[in-house]
Amino acid sequence: MQQPTRLQDEAARLLARLGVDAALYGEGERAVRTPLTGETIGRVRDASAEEARDLIRKAHEAFLQWRRVPAPRRGEFVRLLGEELRAVKDDLGRLVTIEVGKVPSEGLGEVQEMIDICDFAVGLSRQLYGLTMGSERADHRMQEQWHPAGVVGVISAFNFPVAVWSWNAALAFVSGDAVVWKPSEKTPLTALAVQALTRRVIERFEEAPEHLSVLLLGDRATGEALVDDGRVPVLSATGSTAMGRAVGQRVAARFGRAILELGGNNASIVTPSADLDLALRAIAFGAVGTAGQRCTTLRRLFVHESVYDTLLPRLKRVYSTVSIGNPLDGDVLVGPLFEEAGFRAMEAALEAARAAGGTVHEGARVTEGLPEAAFYVRPALVEMPRQAGPMLVETFAPILYVVTYRELDEAIALQNGVAAGLSSSIFTTDMREADRFLSALGSDCGIANVNMGSSGAEIGGAFGGEKETGGGRESGSDAWKAYMRRQTNAINYGYAMPLAQGVRFDI
Ligand code: NAD
Repeated sequence: MQQPTRLQDEAARLLARLGVDAALYGEGERAVRTPLTGETIGRVRDASAEEARDLIRKAHEAFLQWRRVPAPRRGEFVRLLGEELRAVKDDLGRLVTIEVGKVPSEGLGEVQEMIDICDFAVGLSRQLYGLTMGSERADHRMQEQWHPAGVVGVISAFNFPVAVWSWNAALAFVSGDAVVWKPSEKTPLTALAVQALTRRVIERFEEAPEHLSVLLLGDRATGEALVDDGRVPVLSATGSTAMGRAVGQRVAARFGRAILELGGNNASIVTPSADLDLALRAIAFGAVGTAGQRCTTLRRLFVHESVYDTLLPRLKRVYSTVSIGNPLDGDVLVGPLFEEAGFRAMEAALEAARAAGGTVHEGARVTEGLPEAAFYVRPALVEMPRQAGPMLVETFAPILYVVTYRELDEAIALQNGVAAGLSSSIFTTDMREADRFLSALGSDCGIANVNMGSSGAEIGGAFGGEKETGGGRESGSDAWKAYMRRQTNAINYGYAMPLAQGVRFDI
């Protein structure tokens, strides 16, 4: 038998502390590897089709019970979930770093985001407001009520292995729904940890049914079982646009509601009046942070020709000096790519960029002192003659394409000229430019920022994007409405029965 490695040992220790039964990650057909070194750190077993059906049924039964619990009590449940997350933040954050390769502050940040959405949802549990409307009929009134929707299915991607669940689950729980989660097959360990801590809260909370939160491990096939199940009225899916295209159509075919959070191809515009020091820092974090593996990662930069020659050398310096390495071994800003496929996609995109006339700076694999089975890269900065080729699509790796522009409207058209519509930003100190960018004639994205990068959203605002990003909104504002069903009530408190629109029906 092979000796456990240092990281496998550490993952096991963390999982034990987080309350996960060792049998759940010690054996199984699916090997889990850490991108930090490429080594295997656990093994898990996928749910069978029969288990998936059975667990969805149990979650549905849990929903029938949970919907009877008053919303503020459901909020109390989510408050306890937030407390549990606070207690395990360090361990869970560290496990995120080991399983996904994020630098420690981002691993912890992901858990903080889970805590933040719990806090948000607690308040929301007393604010699930419906409107009242004046009726055109005498002695009538109209109102709307928001009722729990049912079982909410959550399919999540590898790059935010736990936060995406919480964006959905915290809102779903206060909405009166049960949740069935199919995490990425590449990040099951953090999912097991979250499931264990959620179960602890369920056990503590008398009104919570056992299967209020259910975990289904598995790949696309398991995801499809959830997608096709008529007992799942709301299906939230986060991942690639290709996945969303398949999932969206299947959910629509059974008249379910899909919340799609798909790929981004995000851009920033640097105008002549921009504060370049601030812009540089924001661009660097947005483009090279998380090794370019956020849906909101900055991938395209449109720089006004008057500031291009000032900004570009400074950017090049960042790209040639930014620290890269195993985030557990030292203070680095860029960790590994998650897997070899990401590295191959990056190589192919850089090749295509050269073919389209681009000049590539940096972007090579970094191997010195790093394990062979891991994929570390120096982020790439690509000067493009125009927006073309690989610049039009998302490559899930740290590549930033830069193009010059003359007129703001031209830059906005370029920014909007791709299929994705997630995040965008402008750097300017000219208020006309800022507001033009935010106006109906400006950015067509779900997220449009001023003097910030495209990356690093916070809880409170609705998160999501347009076009091929899928149109879903999660986490903030009135995103909760997607997890509930709206019922319009008309009430007659008089003795006559007038009909709307003056229609007569005298019998
Ligand atoms: P992916 O599409 O490969 O997988 C995402 C999830 O979907 C996994 O759980 C996978 O098993 C499941 N899946 C795949 N095909 C399916 C199908 N046909 N039916 C049901 N389930 C299916 O994505 P990934 O590589 O894990 O993540 C990276 C992608 O996710 C990037 O495109 C990134 O931009 C996107 N992303 C978007 C957001 C957002 O909020 N918009 C957030 C994070 C990641």
